[in-house]
Amino acid sequence: MARYLEAKCRLCRREGEKLYLKGSKCYSAKCAMERRPFAPGMHGQNRRSKTSDYGLQLREKQKVKRIYGLQEKQFVRYFSDADRMPGVTGLNLLHLLESRLDNVVYRMGLASSRTEARQIVRHKLVKMDGRVVNIPSCRVPVGARIELVEEAREHLRVKAAAEAAADRGTAEWIDVDLTSKQGVFRELPARDQLDPNIREQLIVELYSK
Ligand code: SF4
Repeated sequence: MARYLEAKCRLCRREGEKLYLKGSKCYSAKCAMERRPFAPGMHGQNRRSKTSDYGLQLREKQKVKRIYGLQEKQFVRYFSDADRMPGVTGLNLLHLLESRLDNVVYRMGLASSRTEARQIVRHKLVKMDGRVVNIPSCRVPVGARIELVEEAREHLRVKAAAEAAADRGTAEWIDVDLTSKQGVFRELPARDQLDPNIREQLIVELYSK
């Protein structure tokens, strides 16, 4: 277990920034990026910083994939869906990722990380518009009501996540009631509401080659 936990932090160190994969630890002094903010491995501190355009595009894709906890195949599918949609492909991609049920549960503050949100969904603890949905990738339509089933509302991990979220704030594009553990996916986020460190244009360039 310990090795697995460390592996997540290695992903952040590899990308050179916090990806917030570990819940409350990410906001504490125990965060590996606070203690060892350099790439993992023997030569992590000596790695040359010059990277080709292709290298930058590849890293950006890897970073976003890791933030949302996706496999390569799933990510490629999201990109091709985004590319077929009208509008700006990069923003479409972010909207598709943000609309995943596990992500919405995380953004609502009902789980401390996307991994935890995925577990909650898989364990049939989440309802969408009154029906239990146990597919983390399920796309949440605008206007959908998301809530936890009654027995999950008092789970210690859920309560801890909700308390932390109440302090830090939840996503502006979701109307959330952390007391009753429910909310409405009011609208898709505007670009400036999402992580400014994500450079989705690089991903578009990567897949446009
Ligand atoms: Fe680990 Fe910090 Fe990354 Fe969280 S943000 S996964 S604690 S390195």
